[in-house]
Amino acid sequence: MLKSLGFLHLAIRALRGQRRVAGFYLLASLGDSLAAALVMWLVKRYLDTVSTSGGSVTLWGAAGAACGLILGAWMFRALCACFRRIWSQKLQNAVLVSQMMLLTRHLLRQSVAFFDRQSRSEILSAVRLDVHTVYVAVECLCTLFSNLVTVVALAATAFWLSPRLFGWVIIILPVLTLPILLSGNRMLRASENQRTAGFQMMDHLMDLFAGLRLVKLFRSETQEVNRFREIAERYFEAQLRFTRHQALAHVSLEAIAGIGLVAVILLGGMEVQSGKLTWPGLLTFLITLMGIFEPARWVTSAYSTIQQNIPGSERLGELLALRPEIEDGPNARALLGQPEIIRLENVGFAYSADAPVIKDVCLEIRAGEVIGVVGPSGAGKSTLLSLLSRFYDPTEGAVYFDGVNLRDYKLATVYDHVSAVLQIPFVFNTTLRENIRYGRPDATDAEVEQAARDANLYDEIQQMPQGYDTVLGAGGQDLSVGQRQRLNIARALLKNAPILLLDEATSALDSISEARVQAALDRLMEGRTVIAVAHRLSTLRGAHRLVVMKQGRVEAIGTHAELLKSSDTYRLLCEHQAMSTEDAKPVPEAAAQPAALA
Ligand code: ATP
Repeated sequence: MLKSLGFLHLAIRALRGQRRVAGFYLLASLGDSLAAALVMWLVKRYLDTVSTSGGSVTLWGAAGAACGLILGAWMFRALCACFRRIWSQKLQNAVLVSQMMLLTRHLLRQSVAFFDRQSRSEILSAVRLDVHTVYVAVECLCTLFSNLVTVVALAATAFWLSPRLFGWVIIILPVLTLPILLSGNRMLRASENQRTAGFQMMDHLMDLFAGLRLVKLFRSETQEVNRFREIAERYFEAQLRFTRHQALAHVSLEAIAGIGLVAVILLGGMEVQSGKLTWPGLLTFLITLMGIFEPARWVTSAYSTIQQNIPGSERLGELLALRPEIEDGPNARALLGQPEIIRLENVGFAYSADAPVIKDVCLEIRAGEVIGVVGPSGAGKSTLLSLLSRFYDPTEGAVYFDGVNLRDYKLATVYDHVSAVLQIPFVFNTTLRENIRYGRPDATDAEVEQAARDANLYDEIQQMPQGYDTVLGAGGQDLSVGQRQRLNIARALLKNAPILLLDEATSALDSISEARVQAALDRLMEGRTVIAVAHRLSTLRGAHRLVVMKQGRVEAIGTHAELLKSSDTYRLLCEHQAMSTEDAKPVPEAAAQPAALA
C-alpha cells in the first residue's frame, strides 16, 4: 500500500511542470462527473413528475422540458468526456516528453563506469518504458480525483434519495476493494518477474542480432531460438500469473458487488412497502448506485495497474537519484589551452575493488610529444587512455595537467581538449556532413569539406550520389572500416583538440587502407600531444618515446633501440612481429622532437 502511495507521489512531482494542461484535464473530468450526477437528479425529477401527474403530462409539457434538460446534461457530459480524452492525451505527451528529456539528460551525465555495469536493455527500457510509469501515475491520480468527484456527487444524490439505503451502501463500498488489496503483493511479485524476463529477452535478442554472423557460421540458429523460447516462456508465464491474480480479484469484486446490489434491492423494496421511499426514488437510487460502483471497479483496476507499474517506477526513481561518479567539484577550474606537462603520479586503477588493472604508473608527457603505448593484451593500455581522458578517475595516485589534479578541472573543459580515434570507429545515424560536423557543431560547410580533404575522404564523398548529404549508420549507407576511420579523423580534425588519444586506430585495416588512414592520422597528429596505443609496432615509428606496459605496470620507457636493450617484454613483442632490429626503422633517439614524425 505504501508503495502505491509512493507511486502516486511520482505524479505530483511530474504535474508540477504541467499545471495548465493538468488543470484543463481536471476541469473536463469535473464537468463529466457533475453532469453524470445532474442526469440522475433530472431523471428522478422526471419520474416523480410522471408518477404524480396522473396522466396529465404531455410530450410538450413538463416532461418534455425535463427530457430536454436530461438530453442537454447528457450532451454536456459527452462534450466534457471528449475534452477529457483530448487533454488526457496532451497531458500524456507533455509528461512523457519532459520525463524522457529529464532521464536522457540525467543518463548522459553519468560516467562511463555506470554504462559498463548496466545492461543495455535496462537503459533502453528506462527511457522507453519506465518513464511511461510516470504518466500512468499521473493518469491514476487524475482519474482518482475525477472518480472521487463522481462518487461524492452521486453519493450526495443517493443520500438525498434515501439516507437509510445510503447507509448500507457506505458499508458495502469499502468491502468491494478488499479482494484487490489482498492480492496486491502477489501481483507486484509477478510484475517484477515479468520485467526481469523482459530484459533477458531483449538482451538475448540484441546479442543475437549483433553476433548474427557468428550465429550463421556456427549454425546455432536452433540452439539460439530454443534459448529464446525458454526466456520468452518465463516472461509470458509471469504475465499469466499477473493476469490470473487480477482476474481473481475482479471476480471477487463482482461477487461482492452483486451481493451488495441484491441487498439494496431487498432493503429498498422494504422501504417502498413501508412508504418511506417511492418507486421512482428506488429506481433512481439503483441507477445512481450503478454509477457509484463504476469508480469502485476503477479502483480495483487502477490498483492492479499500479502494482504492474511499481517496479518500473522504482527503477526510474533509482536512476534519477543517481549521482554521476565523475562530476565537477565545487571549486573546479577551467582547463585553458594545451597543458604543457601531463604527469601521472603513482596511478592505480581497478574496475572492481579486488582486481587492480593499473598499478603504480608514473609517466610524464610534454606538450607536442608522441607517446606510443605497447604491451601484451590485457596489460591496461586502453585503460590508461581512459584515465587520461577522465572517463574514469584513478583509484590511487593522480593525473596532473600542468601540476593541477585532473579532478580539479571542469570536466567539460577537459573533454574539450581531448580527441580520440578508437579501433572501432563510430558513425551516427545522420548525414555524412553532420557526422563530421559532430566535431564542431558551428563549423561551416567549407570547414567540414576541408576536414574531409585532410582526412583523405574527399574523393570518396564526391563519388557518392548524395555527397555530404548521404545518410549513414542504421537505415543509411554503410562505409568500410577504413572510411569510417577517416570520417572519425575528419571529426577529430574539426574538433582541433590539443590532446589526441589513438587506440589501435589502424589495427582493423588492410595495408592499403592503413596507409590512407595513417596519412590522415599523421596530419591529425601534427602539433598535438599524442598518446597512441598499438599492437603493430610499425605504426608507432613516429613516436618520440614508447611506454611498455605489462600486467598493469609500466615495465620500461624509452626509444625503440633503448627498449630492445632494456625490456624483455618489448623484445618479445618485436620478435613476435618478426620485427628484427635490422628491418624496423628505428624510432628517433631524442625524445620530445615533434618534427621527427614519420
Ligand atoms: P588489449 O590490447 O587487448 O586491448 P589492453 O592492454 O588495452 O588490452 P585493457 O583494455 O586496458 O587492456 O584491459 C585491462 C584489463 O581490464 C583487462 O583485464 C580487462 O579485462 C579489464 N577491463 C577492461 N575494461 C573493463 C571494464 N569496462 N570493466 C571491467 N574490466 C575491464
